[in-house]
Amino acid sequence: MLPTDFVLQSRVAHSIPSRPATVPDRDPGPVPALPEPVRIVRASHLGMCFGVRGAIAKVLRIAHRERVTVLGELVHNRAVLDRLAASGVLFQREAEAVETPVVAITAHGASRRRLAEVRGLGLKVVDATCPLVRTAHHAVSQFVEEGFHPVIVGVREHVEVRGLTEDLDAYDVVASEADIERLVPRPRFGVAAQTTQPVERVQHLAAVLQARFPESEVRLADTVCLPTRLRQEAAVALSTECDVVIVVGGANSNNTRELCETCRRYCERVFQVQGPDDLRREWLDGVRVAGLTAGTSTPDDVIDAVEARLREMAGGEERSC
Ligand code: SF4
Repeated sequence: MLPTDFVLQSRVAHSIPSRPATVPDRDPGPVPALPEPVRIVRASHLGMCFGVRGAIAKVLRIAHRERVTVLGELVHNRAVLDRLAASGVLFQREAEAVETPVVAITAHGASRRRLAEVRGLGLKVVDATCPLVRTAHHAVSQFVEEGFHPVIVGVREHVEVRGLTEDLDAYDVVASEADIERLVPRPRFGVAAQTTQPVERVQHLAAVLQARFPESEVRLADTVCLPTRLRQEAAVALSTECDVVIVVGGANSNNTRELCETCRRYCERVFQVQGPDDLRREWLDGVRVAGLTAGTSTPDDVIDAVEARLREMAGGEERSC
């Protein structure tokens, strides 16, 4: 479905120095096996998406040639950020603080207004926006052109949502039914979503919006990206068959948080970890099947390290779900 995913996966896997940032500095020693072996099941889709891989590859290519600063967090994952920093990539929250001639926009994208401000400072902009975020930008612009009031399903302060909304004169951001209660009537609403939102939430809130304003035209542009969709679907399949699910991802990663929430709807024991050190042996008490999934910014070797540690604790076999 996404051939570039594989291509970029291979390329980046070779281009990031493999400093194991989340692997323990010292060997914690062997872990005693549990009385009954626990089966470990990997989600059929998990981990870093092609958009994040592409952004990392782009920034690393530039960093090999010239000094570059990334505006914001390239990905919401400490291990990846540490590796980029080790390759000489700098990070700044504000463009005014940038001291390199080149700045990179993250995969989350940015508004035209923001890009103009950055260029206005005399900085050369390298845009690593994910193509699927661009699709969401296009959908919102289309709504405005056609006279729809944009309603974005997402997290108001998330960098991607700021990028989607900063060029708009009027818009709303909603995350719940309560948010929709606060909207004022409009003849036409155009609903789009932050790319990492659960599809069911987006569809549900669009339906709630239509029920609240039955006289209005409500149009939905489903901008949830395919990698998110596949990971969410795989997480549902995984958590329905597991006694415990481990979700690997950065503490401030929105899509990892959403994956956890999805899993909790089908499994009572769900734990988010950033690396193998966060695993607790007691999480496997009484467990027959343990599931493993990961957010779209989690690199392969961190997932592998978590799985290796889990298997060591569990003494069980692995298969994909
Ligand atoms: S989560 Fe989706 S939209 Fe975001 S970078 Fe990955 S593929 Fe692109």
